Amino acid sequence: MAVAPEYDVLIVGAGPAGAACALALAGSGLRVGLLDKARFPRDKVCGDAIPGPTLKALARLRPAYAAELRQLTEPHRTDVRRSRLVSPGGRELSVEWQAPAFNSPRLHFDEVLLTLVRRHTATEILEDSPVKTVAATAAGVTATLAGGRELTAHLVIGCDGANSVVGRCLLPRPLDRARHCAAVRAYYRGVTDAPATTSDFLFLRRHRAGYCWVFPVGNGSYNVGFGMLSEDIAREKIDLKQVLAELLATHPALAPRFREAQQLGPVQGFGLPLGGSGRPLAGLRALLCGDAAALIDPLQGHGIDKAVISGILAAEHARRCCETQNFSRASLQQYEQAVQQRLGRDLRRRYRLMRLLARAPGLVEAAFRLGQWPWLRRWLIRAVG
Ligand SMILES: Cc1cc2nc3c(=O)[nH]c(=O)nc-3n(C[C@H](O)[C@H](O)[C@H](O)COP(=O)(O)OP(=O)(O)OC[C@H]3O[C@@H](n4cnc5c(N)ncnc54)[C@H](O)[C@@H]3O)c2cc1C
Repeated sequence: MAVAPEYDVLIVGAGPAGAACALALAGSGLRVGLLDKARFPRDKVCGDAIPGPTLKALARLRPAYAAELRQLTEPHRTDVRRSRLVSPGGRELSVEWQAPAFNSPRLHFDEVLLTLVRRHTATEILEDSPVKTVAATAAGVTATLAGGRELTAHLVIGCDGANSVVGRCLLPRPLDRARHCAAVRAYYRGVTDAPATTSDFLFLRRHRAGYCWVFPVGNGSYNVGFGMLSEDIAREKIDLKQVLAELLATHPALAPRFREAQQLGPVQGFGLPLGGSGRPLAGLRALLCGDAAALIDPLQGHGIDKAVISGILAAEHARRCCETQNFSRASLQQYEQAVQQRLGRDLRRRYRLMRLLARAPGLVEAAFRLGQWPWLRRWLIRAVG
């Protein structure tokens, strides 16, 4: 790369990881590009549960971000105060939440995050810009868009989700089905016995390592879905859409509530790369964040908070690399160490716990029985909540 690159930092993907990364680069003086193949607002197949640490991480970055996020999501949000859990044997457990968490359809939530980027940063945002390939040399990185346009940068940050092009080109890894889930979801109205502040989780006897959910997302709508480990899906040749339809029609805790419900759109599916594998997150002139880095919580399937946290960590390291003009492997690997320190240990522990619970369904039932005692419930929630 003989001439100076167009950008110091090129962020590919404007979901939670990319938006958080751009917000964390505000005021850095760096030339930041944020690319997305979609035009926002765009949908993303998700359960739409925004985990509490998401807001905490944004508030720590700048309190105004969290305050504005709450204000801008107001028309499309429901605050969650309680979760109802149903065991494979039909035992119910109710959990009251202290920490603020909410549900909001990703169509709106991700648009609000990008609005914050527009308001608070000088980031150059390029929508409708699908990256086809990324190539890196010791001198810099080049992303080639679908139309053939080339964008150059000192550093690329891959925030382009579960099927990351940045990951595929610069840090390729085969799909590990033991560390990958697939899930489907659809929106419904007219669900009965479904309070607007309560999220429901149902664990199933037949399909372990996964669960079915009914999450209120505001305005009388519900995000309803089912997901499980890809290894089990492949082995048992499971059709997730069919399983979801059967559950809503026949499961004793669901069927009566969905009798009058109307489905609002198609059932859609997507992959969830689970965390805890310790996969490399830094390559030549490249860092990976969020789903591109496989950071989803193996127990709950939550990844929005991990996307935001890793996006912010990547921004901190990008600043340092640009200031010192040191893009060596050793320098970039400090990001990987930071992610492992902040998220890795917990993700590994939760992966082991998920595998254990899937192998020993008796343990899940025992946990539900123990959860009837308040002090044991508190302990259990700390372990898996
Ligand atoms: C069914 C399902 C339910 C889930 N439920 C929850 C939940 O309730 N709570 C939770 O916390 N997590 C949930 N997750 C996980 C969550 O959706 C992800 O962890 C989260 O979206 C990761 O954010 P991200 O920014 O890394 O990636 P994404 O949100 O996937 O964003 C990636 C962005 O990159 C863009 N992009 C992709 N490829 C390219 C390209 N080639 N060029 C340019 N742009 C590109 C995309 O358009 C997208 O905007 C769920 C996932 C699934 C599949």
